[in-house]
Amino acid sequence: MEKLLIACLCLALFACDSKTKESEKKKEVPAQDFEQFKLDYIDAMWAMNPISASYQGLHKYDDQLPILNEERKQKGLDFSKEWLNKLNDFNYESLSELDKIDYHLMDDNLSSTDFYTNEFKGGEWNPSSYNLGGAFFQVINYQGNDLNDRLEALSKKLDKVQAYYQQAQQNIQKPTEVHVRLAVQQLEGSKSIFEKTLADSLAVSSKDDAFKEAFTVKLEVAVEAIDAYKNFLQIEFLDKSEDSTTFRSFRIGEDLFAKKSNSQIQSAYSAKEIFEAAVEEKEDLHEKLYRLSEMLWEKYHGDKEKPGGRFEQIQMVIDAVAKTHVHRDSFVTAIRQQIPELIAFVNDNDLIALDAKKPLVVRETPEYMRGFAGASISAPGPYDADAETYYNVTPLDHYSEEEAESYLREYNNFTLQILNIHEAIPGHYTQLVYSNQSPSLIKSILGNGAMIEGWAVYTEKMMLENGYGGDNIEMGLMYYKWNLRTVCNTILDYGVHVMNYTEEDAMQLLMKEAFQEKSEAEGKWRRARLSQVQLCSYFTGYYEIMQLRSEIQERLGEAFNLKSFHEEFLSYGSAPVKYIRKLMIGKLDQEGKPA
Ligand code: ZN
Ligand code: ZN
Repeated sequence: MEKLLIACLCLALFACDSKTKESEKKKEVPAQDFEQFKLDYIDAMWAMNPISASYQGLHKYDDQLPILNEERKQKGLDFSKEWLNKLNDFNYESLSELDKIDYHLMDDNLSSTDFYTNEFKGGEWNPSSYNLGGAFFQVINYQGNDLNDRLEALSKKLDKVQAYYQQAQQNIQKPTEVHVRLAVQQLEGSKSIFEKTLADSLAVSSKDDAFKEAFTVKLEVAVEAIDAYKNFLQIEFLDKSEDSTTFRSFRIGEDLFAKKSNSQIQSAYSAKEIFEAAVEEKEDLHEKLYRLSEMLWEKYHGDKEKPGGRFEQIQMVIDAVAKTHVHRDSFVTAIRQQIPELIAFVNDNDLIALDAKKPLVVRETPEYMRGFAGASISAPGPYDADAETYYNVTPLDHYSEEEAESYLREYNNFTLQILNIHEAIPGHYTQLVYSNQSPSLIKSILGNGAMIEGWAVYTEKMMLENGYGGDNIEMGLMYYKWNLRTVCNTILDYGVHVMNYTEEDAMQLLMKEAFQEKSEAEGKWRRARLSQVQLCSYFTGYYEIMQLRSEIQERLGEAFNLKSFHEEFLSYGSAPVKYIRKLMIGKLDQEGKPA
C-alpha cells in the first residue's frame, strides 16, 4: 500500500519525551478541547497546503495554488511555531492514550518543518517536486462537486500556474541529474492533464462561451509555462550534463539521511542501527535459503551436479520452484479463492479477530488505476469513510506472453499466497479495519508508513510461524526470498545515500544476493536514487514489531497470548511503533508485570 506524503509538512524530528516533564505543571484539559484543537489544526494545515488537501479528498481549497517563494517559506515556519506553542499548552499527561499518540504525531510533524525548510531543502534540487498535473487532476476528477463548480475553482487555480513555474525556476539551485530527468519525463505527461483532461471537461460543461474562451486561454498559458520550465531544465542542466559541476550528487549523505529517517520513519532505532540489523538479517536469510535449497535440490534437479557457489545453487532452486504458477487467465480468480482460506486459517489458529461483517471485496483494478503494481488495497480516505475497501488485482491481459510468464514466475503459487497475506489478511486490510475502529483524523493523515508496512511484513512471518503452508518447503523458500527483498531495500537505501554504493554494488546486492531479475533490480536502483528513507520503512516497522513482541513475550511468559498482542497492538491505530510500545509497556508496568 502506498501512502501519500504530505508536502512540506512531513513527520518527526526531535524526540519529545522532555516535553512530558514540562507539561506536568499545566492545567487539566477536557477531552473535547483537545478534540477541537485537532480539528482546528488540521483545517489550518489544509489551508496552508491546498494541494495536499485535494489529494486527501478535502475540496474546500481547490481554487488555491501557493507560490513557493521566500514569503511562503517564512509563513510555513511561523505556522509551525505558532501551532507548536498552542500544542505545548496542553497537559500531555492528562490526555487519553490515543490522544497521547495524536499529540506526538502533531508535535513531530510540526517540529520537522524547520528541517525540511532549512536543511533538507528538496525544492532546491528536486525539480520534479514542481509538478501540477496531479493537483489539477485531483480537482477535476472529484465527482462530489458539480462540474461547473470544479471548473470555477480550477479557473482561479490556473491564474497562478505561470507565476508558480517562474518561481520554481528561481528555486532550483543545483539539481540532481536523476530528478531532472524524472521532472522532464513527468512534465511531458502532466501537460496532457491540461491539454486533454481539462479541455475535454470544459467542452462537455454547461459554462457559457465567455467562460470557456477565457478558460481555454488560461490552459494555453499554463501549458506554455510548463514548457518554459521544461526547456529551462533542458538548457540549463541536461544540455550541460558533460560538465561535472552541473549536478549535485543524488546521495543525501549520513547527516540528512539520519535526520530524515527520524522525521519520516519515527523509529526508536537510528538509521545506522536499522542498516546493521538488516545486514545481519540478510546473512541469516542466506543461511536459511541455502538449507532449503539443499533439501529441494534433488526434487527439482535430480542428480544434476550442484553449481558449487551457494548463491548459484539457491538461484537454481528458486528458478525451478517459480515455474509452479497459475495460468495467466486465472490470476484474479486464484487470488479471490485464497481470501476465504486465509480467513479460515486466521480464525482456526486464533491469531486475531476478523470482522465478519466487513468481508474484503476483491475486484479487477479499474482501468484508470492500472499501470502500476499488480495488487493493491484501496481504502477510503478520511473524508470519504463510507466508501468500500477493495483489493484491486490487475488482470494480465495487457501483457505479452513473455511478460506474463515473467510476472507469474515472480508471483508463483507460493509467493502469491504471501502477497495475499501482506495486502489482505491479516496484513494491510486487517490493520485498516482495526485502525478505523479507533478513528482519528490525525492518525489517518499523519499516520506512520513504517508501522503500516511493518505490520504487513510482520504478518507474513507470523502466519508461517503458526503453520501456514504446512511443512511445504517451497513455501519457506519463497517466503525467505520475499523477505530478503524487504531486507535488501533497507541495505540499498542506506548503502546508496550513506555508504556510496555504486550501481555495480547495487546490482550485486539485488541480483546476486537477493535473487532478483535484472529489470526489478534496475527499477530499484532508480528508486533508491529518487527517494530517500522510504525504502527502509518496511524492514524498520517489521523489526520493531518483532522486538516489541519478544519484549512483551518475555515479560508475560506463560501468560503471553498472541491474539491479544495483535489486537492490542492494532488498537492504537497507524502510529509509530515506538509510541505504541510506550503505551503497551506502560500498561504492563501499571499492572505490575515484572520487567
Ligand atoms: Zn505493503
Ligand atoms: Zn510458466
